[in-house]
Amino acid sequence: MDRIRINNLEVFANHGVFPEENSLGQKFIISAVLHVDTHKAGLTDDLTESVHYGEVCNLISKITRENTFKLIERLAEVIAEEVLLTYDRIREIEIEVKKPWAPIAQTLDYVSVTVNRKWHTAYIGLGSNLGDKEGYLKLACDRIAQNSKCKLIKASDFIVTEPVGGVEQDDFLNGVICVGTLYTPEELLDFTAGIEAEAKRERIVHWGPRTLDLDILFYDDIVMHTDRLIIPHKELHKRLFVLEPMTCIAPYFCHPVYGKTMSDMYEDLKKRDLI
Ligand code: ADP
Ligand code: MG
Repeated sequence: MDRIRINNLEVFANHGVFPEENSLGQKFIISAVLHVDTHKAGLTDDLTESVHYGEVCNLISKITRENTFKLIERLAEVIAEEVLLTYDRIREIEIEVKKPWAPIAQTLDYVSVTVNRKWHTAYIGLGSNLGDKEGYLKLACDRIAQNSKCKLIKASDFIVTEPVGGVEQDDFLNGVICVGTLYTPEELLDFTAGIEAEAKRERIVHWGPRTLDLDILFYDDIVMHTDRLIIPHKELHKRLFVLEPMTCIAPYFCHPVYGKTMSDMYEDLKKRDLI
């Protein structure tokens, strides 16, 4: 990705832990690196194919002047998020906030905080086998599309599938969506758990009937394992009802652990299922 750099933008503002900092104000110096594909703008000499850095400077300055935060960590976070939400073309941003007059009884140039934030790509598996199944899957898509920190990029068809896991229950409706998100994996899980709760999902029988099940299948090419979260989803390579819709929206997406495309994993599992 190409980069546009804004170096040492000076803004007088009121951030700080001490009340005097909030009333008197001081100088903040902000730098930004914007990750933008500038190739087309480079070929056409057309500003609408790139990002207007003057406008970005004005936005950064406005956010810095019009808020009062205790921490420069918070200021950097808010600037990064606002810029990413305002400019579709900026896929990733680095923000450094320097505080040269920080009230420290020492001689130093400045203290600074640097954050790096970006749009991530996640694939989420959707399932329902209780009540208005299609309504629940659509509710999930709507809630994701309505959240400013998420963009619904692609949705597979919804497919009817037979239950697995040995519990006697109704057929499922399944699908997969591709989502752009500013959330971390944990924040995304909190958000999807909130949608499941809204659909009145109760966890009674393991692998039993559910109004709505939202599984994070992939998050970029991350591989992680915590108490709450395993990514890639640990069952997905065994589930035709995940691999079929994944193949429909992202046939060449490569599983970061198995190193195989969705389409190959789907064909392999289908063959194994027939044996
Ligand atoms: P399943 O989806 O396997 O049928 P549940 O939806 O009941 O089972 O499991 C939910 C729990 O699984 C959550 O509490 C969550 O912490 C954990 N979990 C681990 N990895 C993931 C993931 N990738 N996506 C969603 N939930 C996950
Ligand atoms: Mg689940």
